[in-house]
Amino acid sequence: MDINFQGQRALIRVDFNVPLDKDYKITDDTRIQKALPTIRHILDKGGSAILMSHLGRPMKKLKAGGSIDREKFTLHHVVGHLSEQLGRDVKFCDETVGQKAKSMAEQLQPGEVLVLENTRFNEGEKKGDEAFAKQLAELGDVYINDAFGTAHRAHASTTTVAQYFDKSKKSFGFLMKAEIENANKVLHEPDRPVTAIIGGAKVSDKMLLLERLIDFVDNLLIGGGMAYTFVKAQGGAVGNSLVEEDRLELANKLVKKAESKGVRLYLPEDSVVADKFNNEAEHKTTSSKEVPDGWMGLDIGPDARAAFEQAIMEAKSILWNGPMGVFEMPNFAHGTKHIAEAVATSTQQGAFSLVGGGDSVAAVNQMGLADKVSYVSTGGGAMLEFLEGKELPGIKAIND
Ligand code: AMP
Repeated sequence: MDINFQGQRALIRVDFNVPLDKDYKITDDTRIQKALPTIRHILDKGGSAILMSHLGRPMKKLKAGGSIDREKFTLHHVVGHLSEQLGRDVKFCDETVGQKAKSMAEQLQPGEVLVLENTRFNEGEKKGDEAFAKQLAELGDVYINDAFGTAHRAHASTTTVAQYFDKSKKSFGFLMKAEIENANKVLHEPDRPVTAIIGGAKVSDKMLLLERLIDFVDNLLIGGGMAYTFVKAQGGAVGNSLVEEDRLELANKLVKKAESKGVRLYLPEDSVVADKFNNEAEHKTTSSKEVPDGWMGLDIGPDARAAFEQAIMEAKSILWNGPMGVFEMPNFAHGTKHIAEAVATSTQQGAFSLVGGGDSVAAVNQMGLADKVSYVSTGGGAMLEFLEGKELPGIKAIND
């Protein structure tokens, strides 16, 4: 942030899309914590902060013929907690743009903080509307984007707004900068061998990621539900396991591509299979290629764990996205747990590890290993798209 903030009103796009309970209390404030260094820096340097963010999906009911649920989705819910964290008063404007927002922004003194109402209360936000973005831009002297989690969306507050600021008057915040730098560590000239661990439910969600990874990783470990599409495509019997029939051909294509590029592709040799999709279901270990009829693979088995662990321990760079099984159910969380521990141990021995994507992040947090890996990304979809090699609109808008 090469900007002199002295006396400047900084319009900052943060990600305050925090989970709330039924009394609108914040149940996990990670996203607020991650935004604090940028806000504090600007205030310490003599600037003031105008914070904008979305919260939830307030337009959902509107589309179904109802109205915006302002009580549920107002950003006022974060004001008290933010004020405690910053140790100072935080003002709130119950509009995002307009006369009131303008006058509150104008009156802001150095060191003061103003939170604007949920950007998604405005139709123009998700459309990336220029008139709405211009109104936002008028509130600040400089624009800072620190919301990596929404950087893949070309919305008004994440992207369009940036065009109203000169290059010298806009910048990434510390969180955005860290996300980009850490992803680039894996993508550009990483220490080798590079091991990518990809799991989760569907191949179709991660198709582009897999294709791109095969271009530069040394080992590709595939676990989770998506592995069974590969196993079936290779001629295995997978019983009732999750399979995307329309992706079998693609799975074979990816296997061939890996072969031709000299990438070692690991599928789970064995699986923990269950007779129902339920934690209490009967379960046993079988070869992943011989899942009995009526049974489904819900986790990688002990042989797969050992093989995956070895590739992780030998790696110098590790990328992990997606759980190895249905880790929400304790009986099928062992694979994910072992992999998380192996990533932490390998990191301790000098590897660089990046954990990205909602569920693998949840797994690492749940196991208390978040500070034992090199970097935990805050962006699910945004990190996936970044790793796929796409230019994210929120990043481009600052660089342009
Ligand atoms: P994703 O959002 O694609 O990373 O997928 C995460 C979800 O995949 C989690 O909710 C897991 O429960 C689910 N999952 C992982 N392994 C399996 C499996 N073997 N069968 C069904 N679902 C799975």
